[in-house]
Amino acid sequence: MATQLFEDIIFGPIRSRRLGISLGVNLLPTHGKVCSFDCIYCECGYNSERRGDKRLHTRSEVREALQHRLSTMKEAGEGLDVITFAGNGEPTLNPEFEQIISDTIELRNLYYPNVKISVLSNATRLKDDSVFRGLMLVDNNILKLDSAIDETFKLLNAPNISSYTVEEHIEGLKRFKGDFILQTMFVRGTHNGVELDNTTPEEVNAWLEVVKELNPKSIMIYTIDRDTPEKDLQKISPEEMREIARKAEALGYTVSVSC
Ligand code: SF4
Repeated sequence: MATQLFEDIIFGPIRSRRLGISLGVNLLPTHGKVCSFDCIYCECGYNSERRGDKRLHTRSEVREALQHRLSTMKEAGEGLDVITFAGNGEPTLNPEFEQIISDTIELRNLYYPNVKISVLSNATRLKDDSVFRGLMLVDNNILKLDSAIDETFKLLNAPNISSYTVEEHIEGLKRFKGDFILQTMFVRGTHNGVELDNTTPEEVNAWLEVVKELNPKSIMIYTIDRDTPEKDLQKISPEEMREIARKAEALGYTVSVSC
């Protein structure tokens, strides 16, 4: 199975491993990927493989598509737990992100007032005040930190800006004062001839130190589930994933494990 793109502005609803019945919103191109990271495990593929289409959906296109889908679902009596911003890259790169979030809140209140709004973000744009304001409006910010060690962070996430460090990334996360869900991918393998494993004691201890510093409201850990652009990656066993979760739980955090 090849890596794949989400083929519309609105996708699903799907039953998510982590979120329940989730209606997805893709603010990125429909036939391409735009991201500030180029993770070696990205289910959308590498950025270089997805250059075809760079046109981002506009605020009015997103509003119209979301309104249409929510009203249709409501009429059909369909259940929904969450509206999730994810898709073909990093949602906060859409220049109308803040306004789109405001529209989504308005539509959610109209059609499904009890539904949560979540954003899956790689957390690279948290210094941007408009992005930060938009994120502060949603119920769940699910923000990525895959390693607290810069070398591994760069290998796994491959930031577009090569000078971007894990320290800078962590500083951005601190802006939330703990009001976010931390999301971490655990994986091992080889990339460009370099071995990587963010489950070693050194990695997990460094990650736990940053967890304590950031104090997120909960933690989601997961491992690869679908095809990845780097073929030499291995899934972490359920036992190992639960062992990592137990370490964070011992510090008082609620941890959900997808494996
Ligand atoms: S941050 Fe998400 S969308 Fe971007 S490359 Fe990584 S996994 Fe893919």
